[in-house]
Amino acid sequence: MALRQLALLPALALLSVLLYAGLSHADPQYVLGGDVVPANTARIIALGTGTPNVYKDQLATSYLIQLGLDGQNVTNILFDVGTGSIVNLYATQVSLANVATVFLSHLHSDHITDLAPLYALASGRSGPLQVWGPSGASPDLGTNATVAGLKAFLGWDQASRNHVSEFPAGYTGNQIVAHEFNYSVPNQLVYNQSGVVVYSNPAFHYDTPGPVSLKLQWRNLTITYSGDTVPLTTFVDFALGSDVVIHEAVGPVYNLSAAAIASKNIALNHTTAVQVGQIFQAIQPRLAIATHLSLRQDTYVPLVSAIRSSFPAGPLALAQDLAVWDVSATSIQQRRFLVIPNGVGGLFTAPSAAPNPAGYKFVTQFDYNWPFPATTHTGLQLYTPGQALAPLPANPASVAASSTSGRH
Ligand SMILES: [Zn+2]
Repeated sequence: MALRQLALLPALALLSVLLYAGLSHADPQYVLGGDVVPANTARIIALGTGTPNVYKDQLATSYLIQLGLDGQNVTNILFDVGTGSIVNLYATQVSLANVATVFLSHLHSDHITDLAPLYALASGRSGPLQVWGPSGASPDLGTNATVAGLKAFLGWDQASRNHVSEFPAGYTGNQIVAHEFNYSVPNQLVYNQSGVVVYSNPAFHYDTPGPVSLKLQWRNLTITYSGDTVPLTTFVDFALGSDVVIHEAVGPVYNLSAAAIASKNIALNHTTAVQVGQIFQAIQPRLAIATHLSLRQDTYVPLVSAIRSSFPAGPLALAQDLAVWDVSATSIQQRRFLVIPNGVGGLFTAPSAAPNPAGYKFVTQFDYNWPFPATTHTGLQLYTPGQALAPLPANPASVAASSTSGRH
């Protein structure tokens, strides 16, 4: 880089700060890094909402749930840590030191692979990374074996860090501990700490024992997450009464091989958009979130139409990366994390002139309309109430048929 270009850098940095301040001032739909979670509010942050075939704007599945204890402190819990999702965890500027509790719905790569950096990047974590997850048909197919394999995979990584005394004597934040539970027990209590309770319920995915759905209860709020599964009436029973239901649905998936398409594995082992609408309709949560969909301009409206054909009226969101929902007893607020290029990685510190994040708490009415600014997100067509929807595909089955493939 030439000296003249280097001299421009401070000016560019200042410009980005000004743009940042201007953007955030202008629009209450954003969450800023460091934004406080109000007391008695569960903040759900979609770190990844896509499939194993990740692309830049949609990473694989991970949800961060932040429980606002008192307006200052939070309890952080992760549901799944799929491929690439660590990028968005960094982007939220949530300290990894405070993310030490993980629940896994099942052990497919698109739900677990970013356990690796979460485990390896232990700086500041006060204790071991704690991972709860299901058993499998045999010991080598359960969470204990997966975590043991991860430790082996990162053996050199950890040895090198210990060699240079990166961690002080007696430090345990660089360790990982598995808590495997029986996948097959319905409505099973698997966690009960500090007022946070988590249950598991068997799911059905790839006809391989192990997958579960998860239900978190805290201060009269209930958030239920399907994991990957075919539609199950047992999930409806498990999730009845939930404030928020996050359920997988499948749509067209890109970049599949012909063999993967021919196998029809996706169609046979996931929930279609029409089916997820049926599940939402049966449960009637305060907010229904469809996740694990490949969202593109050409898929968004057909998917909404398909879900709305069986779930015509309830609050619905199609999950997109960095969506944020603040859920309290009285309101659900939907926003999006504001990420600027030099904010990724948590290196950006908002200048003192930045707006007070408290100014972004006044949007309390849930809105179907996803607030992506057209200038930065051109890949999605938005649905707004009352909008004339594109007609359903001539054959709704074609949505599933076009997306049959390999493992998710
Ligand atoms: Zn998956």
